[in-house]
Amino acid sequence: MPLPQRYVGRLAPSPTGALHLGNVRTFMIAWLRARSAGGRILMRMEDLDHPHCKPGAAQAALDDLRWLGFDWDGGCTVQSSRRGIYGAALLRLAAAGFAYPCVCSRADVERAQSAPHAGEQLHYPGTCRGRFPSWEAAAASCAPRVPLWRFYSSHPALAAFAPRGTVSFSDGFAGAYSMDVPARLGDFPLARDPGGAGYMLASVVDDHLQGVTEIVRGDDLLPATPAQMMVAAALGFAFPATFHVPLVTGMDGMRLAKRHGDTRVSAYRLAGASPGSVIGFLAFRSGLSPDARPRTLQSLLRDFDPAAIPRAPLRIGPHDFGPGSPEKSPG
Ligand code: GLU
Repeated sequence: MPLPQRYVGRLAPSPTGALHLGNVRTFMIAWLRARSAGGRILMRMEDLDHPHCKPGAAQAALDDLRWLGFDWDGGCTVQSSRRGIYGAALLRLAAAGFAYPCVCSRADVERAQSAPHAGEQLHYPGTCRGRFPSWEAAAASCAPRVPLWRFYSSHPALAAFAPRGTVSFSDGFAGAYSMDVPARLGDFPLARDPGGAGYMLASVVDDHLQGVTEIVRGDDLLPATPAQMMVAAALGFAFPATFHVPLVTGMDGMRLAKRHGDTRVSAYRLAGASPGSVIGFLAFRSGLSPDARPRTLQSLLRDFDPAAIPRAPLRIGPHDFGPGSPEKSPG
């Protein structure tokens, strides 16, 4: 009989700005899932998204998390130091015909839309598939622009994994989810980096190499999951279970941002809030504590019940928990 698999989770911050209440709430749930299962939790810095990565933000995020009482197993895996690993995965995908360079501009892709699209993701019909023998040949044809790598989402070898292009899975929080990837996204972007070092490929490769058994993250990434699962299948990797939780939003229902006020952990620290007051507030508003009194992460473990987490996004108003709010408690 195979041994039961031990839970391995991960915290995967992107150092694109300061850690705020929204990040903390997702990490709190991720930490509780792992520790309540007696499992391991790893720390991975997703710092490949260059233009948006802020110097010092990675260290600041780790400091904030430690201050809040988070711990993790082993050191911090830094994606920018693992480029060769992602490059090798990209070469494998390209050699098997799953990845190809594309020289279409965003305007080209927009013009090719057969139906109005919502959000960021455009449908790409595969115009450049089979067109260039190499990335260099593609690059020469579109200089000074740089080609991007796309994933051939209707590759015949994926037929067993995604019947008629449809990837279906059951998310631990969000429930049944499926997407006809070729119809909805077409050949989606795999990496903007010529060597493959970008979020999409790197996270799939790292989750596999690090033995992650469950991904806990914000449900803004739920629609990206079927595409990531296809990439994993093409590489011959099993994909971890997933648990996508609603985001924290402002009172307007929009994802928490600067205009909603300062919810950076560093601002609470500076204002003299205690780590327990931040955790206690988030735990209360996430159904994980009976009131907003200060709590340690450890103390939430005893009766952690993921089913208590509300299905709706967590709306936070400017006076709910701010450095000047009543829930602030002295350091
Ligand atoms: N680094 C991503 C973020 O901070 C999370 C990606 C993931 O969990 O797969 O939004």
